[in-house]
Amino acid sequence: TIVITGATGQLGSLVVDALLQAGTPAAEIVGTGRNEQRLAELRERGIRTVVADYNDGAALEAAFAGADAVLLISGSEVGQRVAQHASVIAAAKAAGVGRLVYTSAPAAASSALILAPEHKATEELIAASGIPSTILRNGWYTENYLGALSQAAASGEVVASVGGGRVASASRADYATAAAVVLVDASHSGAVYELSGDVAWTHAEFAEAAAEVLERPVSYRNLSPEEHQAALEQAGLDAGTAGFVVALDGNIRDGLLAETSGELARLIGRPTTPLRAELATAAAGLA
Ligand code: NDP
Repeated sequence: TIVITGATGQLGSLVVDALLQAGTPAAEIVGTGRNEQRLAELRERGIRTVVADYNDGAALEAAFAGADAVLLISGSEVGQRVAQHASVIAAAKAAGVGRLVYTSAPAAASSALILAPEHKATEELIAASGIPSTILRNGWYTENYLGALSQAAASGEVVASVGGGRVASASRADYATAAAVVLVDASHSGAVYELSGDVAWTHAEFAEAAAEVLERPVSYRNLSPEEHQAALEQAGLDAGTAGFVVALDGNIRDGLLAETSGELARLIGRPTTPLRAELATAAAGLA
């Protein structure tokens, strides 16, 4: 069997779709998460589900029993993730799973990306566990920018502090397809993949694409980090959250999410979803 942790989330749900589409029988897929309603929706697709918090080692170990492969989708509670992931890895070890696949971050072992340390620590825990593994160092989701698209629709502006920094984003579905590909094929054991979109775009290019799909003028307004912090706080964000957003924009300005390795396209056997195509689909939903 193949177990997907975080199957109740957006990426996990798409991994389940991709596995089913690729012909994995539903009876061989197990999804875990906490959200009961989302678990019920997964059961409607024929897969088995187990309620399991990343902190609940016993529930995880039961869910992992007999698994050929487990996909550990990195948790969403930043700051608590190393302990949570350690609990998942220990459960995988105790259950004797065949392989562990983990969704990490670009160049996690060496990157200055503010999110990298938890991923680096998790990769190290996986290596120390001795469980055969595949590391998927996922770049940014294009979907992270759908809020910016809505704002552009309303105001004609995209506002950030990334300067000319490029983002090699791909759609969640692209990353999910890659996860499904490696989950069913043990020959990916031992690999560390740097996954990102084929094209790295600037925010000025994002504004151009947004203008096209929204059929209205859109421009990119670049702020200094200080101006950005103040603008976010004025919009109601607390100082800590605003600081996090500004720091991530600084990481993008520094090119930390710009790498285009082509490895995602190679794994999925097709080009990654272009920015414009993703925005066009989202814009149709806004109309
Ligand atoms: P979602 O927020 O949609 O899903 C997160 C999943 O993690 C949910 O299934 C959630 O389960 C599960 N989860 C979180 N904490 C726990 C916990 N303590 N115990 C059990 N399950 C837990 O995120 P996405 O699907 O969009 O993204 C997946 C992951 O990728 C994120 O969690 C984050 O680590 C990372 N990420 C990457 C981004 C990128 O651009 N590359 C952007 C944003 C996040 P439940 O809902 O049932 O509680």
